[in-house]
Amino acid sequence: MRDSSIAVIGGSIAGSAFAGAAARLGADRIVVLERSEGQLEDRGVGICINDDRFDELVRAGHLHDGIRRHRLTARRWVTRETAGNRTDDGPDGRGRVLWNQSFAFHSHHWAVLWQALRERTPDRVEFRQGHTVTAAGTDQDGAWTAGPDGTREPYDLVIGADGYRSVVRAAVCPQARPAYAGYVCWRGSYDAALLAELPGGAAAWPEDECATVCYPGGQVVIYRIPGLTPGTTQVNWVFYAPTPAWLGLDGPTSIPAGTLTDGQLDDLRLLAERHLPPYWSALVTLTPRERTFLQPVYDLETPRRTAGRLLLGGDAATVVRPHNTSGAVKALQDAHAFERAGRAAAADGGSWPALLAAYDQERGVVGRELVELGRRLGREQVAAAPDWSAMDEPGMDAWWRRQITGSGGFGGHALGRPE
Ligand SMILES: Cc1cc2nc3c(=O)[nH]c(=O)nc-3n(C[C@H](O)[C@H](O)[C@H](O)COP(=O)(O)OP(=O)(O)OC[C@H]3O[C@@H](n4cnc5c(N)ncnc54)[C@H](O)[C@@H]3O)c2cc1C
Repeated sequence: MRDSSIAVIGGSIAGSAFAGAAARLGADRIVVLERSEGQLEDRGVGICINDDRFDELVRAGHLHDGIRRHRLTARRWVTRETAGNRTDDGPDGRGRVLWNQSFAFHSHHWAVLWQALRERTPDRVEFRQGHTVTAAGTDQDGAWTAGPDGTREPYDLVIGADGYRSVVRAAVCPQARPAYAGYVCWRGSYDAALLAELPGGAAAWPEDECATVCYPGGQVVIYRIPGLTPGTTQVNWVFYAPTPAWLGLDGPTSIPAGTLTDGQLDDLRLLAERHLPPYWSALVTLTPRERTFLQPVYDLETPRRTAGRLLLGGDAATVVRPHNTSGAVKALQDAHAFERAGRAAAADGGSWPALLAAYDQERGVVGRELVELGRRLGREQVAAAPDWSAMDEPGMDAWWRRQITGSGGFGGHALGRPE
């Protein structure tokens, strides 16, 4: 791959990881084309990464173990119990405990993780922000990208790391479109110092606990993440909920932070007050407007991830529902697989078709399994969730085992597992 030119479309988690991998493979010219103009650091959301998957990625050279992250050890599943007119929210207002599950994960602030990936990318990688790619394609000589004025830029390889509505995917497999899961997630985050305003304060909720608050029709996953300033912590929550009547589902449908109307925020508040124990309801409704947003849940399986000299990675290649907590890991593992396939191809004379075929085969299997697991978890935990009031510790344990048996993919597959 030496003396080659590679364009990476999208400069987020997958894009930064692929740019680093391309540099390590010795590509001569690497250009990252990212449409956002502003600070990517502003995407202040949490990402959980499984401890074993993180350690593997450190050993493989994609992450460094000094990244600021927040340790989680337990996932506590709780619910608001109602019997007749009575509601049982437990002594601390945090709900009846269904299950204390062990949870070997750390949480990350998206921006801190992204910054760490960028710092591992050599300076010679050209990072062009405010550059929207409107089309990509492949021909006998290589691949190309085009911007809004239609001018084509040629490269030896174009990598689509441009997320779930990928332009590069439209050229690789135009028939593959993200499928709506039938529910949304509201999301929010804020400085954990604000927890002092809750009854019981911050102390009522252990630092290492990921809370999963279950209600009929959904659940809310709540955990702390590192703040942008070292030494600070933020609260991060993901609230799975039915589709609001006002949400249109054609075109880009996420509602960015700061733009939800008063009426829409009222809907969120009512949802929280109706369904969540008071501690968690108050925690969600404390979130400032500028830190609250909404994303419909999608997933996507692709029939192939390469075509000619085009390659897809991260969410552009496969979109997995968030229940798996595996998206960032999969994006980094995609970059790892690309690097490994590149080394094998180089040892064998440096053929692009060999690299692309090896990558496609490996990532196809992994992607399909993760999408399938995400669907199963979504069905069991949201769309067709059990009657929580009838659940207890042994019931939860058996219910969980049924969901993940045979998948091995909760939190992501082991790196480079044999096929
Ligand atoms: C609610 C929710 C919770 C999640 N929680 C977790 C979790 O706990 N753990 C986990 O591992 N994963 C989680 N994920 C998934 C994870 O965030 C992603 O899978 C991961 O970050 C990989 O993203 P990506 O880089 O492939 O795509 P993205 O982050 O979407 O990046 C795509 C980039 O491409 C740019 N772009 C798009 N189109 C163009 C274009 N035409 N031209 C130029 N640039 C373009 C965009 O601006 C963007 O920067 C979650 C996802 C959701 C929705």
